[in-house]
Amino acid sequence: MTKSAWRRGIGSVSNDGVLRKLRRKHELRVLTILVERGPCSRRELEDATGLSRTTMSAIVADLVRRRAVVDDAQRPASNRGRPTTLIRLNPRAASAVGVELGRGHISVAVADIGRSVLAHVTEPVVADRGLPARMDTALALLQSVTAAHKLELDGLAAAGLGLWGHHPDPEIDSGDPAGDSVVAGVVDRLRAALGVPVIWDHNIRLAAVAELRAVELSARADLVYVALSHRVGGGVVINGALARGASGTAGEIGHVSVDPIGPPCWCGGQGCLEQYLTVNAMLARARAVAPDVVDVGSLVSALDRRDSAAIAVVNWSGELLGRALGMVVPLLDPRRIVIGGELADLGEYLLGPARAALARQKLSIRDRRLEVDTARIAHGAAAVGVALVALDEYAPLHDLNAE
Ligand SMILES: [Zn+2]
Repeated sequence: MTKSAWRRGIGSVSNDGVLRKLRRKHELRVLTILVERGPCSRRELEDATGLSRTTMSAIVADLVRRRAVVDDAQRPASNRGRPTTLIRLNPRAASAVGVELGRGHISVAVADIGRSVLAHVTEPVVADRGLPARMDTALALLQSVTAAHKLELDGLAAAGLGLWGHHPDPEIDSGDPAGDSVVAGVVDRLRAALGVPVIWDHNIRLAAVAELRAVELSARADLVYVALSHRVGGGVVINGALARGASGTAGEIGHVSVDPIGPPCWCGGQGCLEQYLTVNAMLARARAVAPDVVDVGSLVSALDRRDSAAIAVVNWSGELLGRALGMVVPLLDPRRIVIGGELADLGEYLLGPARAALARQKLSIRDRRLEVDTARIAHGAAAVGVALVALDEYAPLHDLNAE
């Protein structure tokens, strides 16, 4: 479907009669199920919606005619018998590209209308290259990825950009006009290169979206994401949508004070989480007691061989992380807290003490359904997240459902 054909359908639903509206509602339900579950047989769609075979047959035929879905896939028969024909969202109906320009890496991702990630590649980049140079590298990487995966971007609906260190907020003056114009330049560059609208946001917040969608079938779930990297950042997803806050910095948990007599922070606060839970802060503390610790990998090795000094450092850090999370949990009552960034490699060594600290604050009470876990997508999650957000914004299912 071309872009113009894609956009033509918008706004044509409003004057439908009652029956037609009901039919559209059923269709949207079918499309939503295909996003949540992937390709389904007609029978599975009937079971999931409670619609009759005749109605489902008519709905699927209509959606195929409008090229919203295709029925070109087959599931092999489990025993003797015919294979089952599967209905899936037409992957060419719309797609989105996600580009992440990180501090030490570049990542690109392509996702289709079914919110399936068709390609996702991450490459390291030298830290002193500016954003424009990184964007050049990202566009070259995108070209090689689409060629390698034989992806055609003719249904490209939008693109998204994830940046480290910048928050988009048209209402608030960032106080950094030079930085703002550099960001505007790379956004323009991406828009011009792909010829589609571009959205952008902060990497860590977009990683939160990617983590949510990696696990939850429902796009309406909640999640708190905390990145422990060269900075401590976070993102909050409520009811499937990124929370922005009044000044665009919702979720920035790094400057919650976890120790009122702790070291001063560059933000002006004292004992901020960021003074303890960054890669450098953690390694410096570990190195002071276990001199062979040079990076996160060697810290994990020290923990694996039960080095008691290293364990004490990580236990204390986990306790502080738990204290900070303890301020988040009563406010948001999230189902999941996901820990990402390089320090997520410490896994249970860090998460165990954090959970224990939460338990001591009586926050893991019986009725609270809280999971604290490490991130599923190790690198470049923001590229995936921003491609999904771009699809939500520019290729929502009700567009696909419009005639
Ligand atoms: Zn601070």
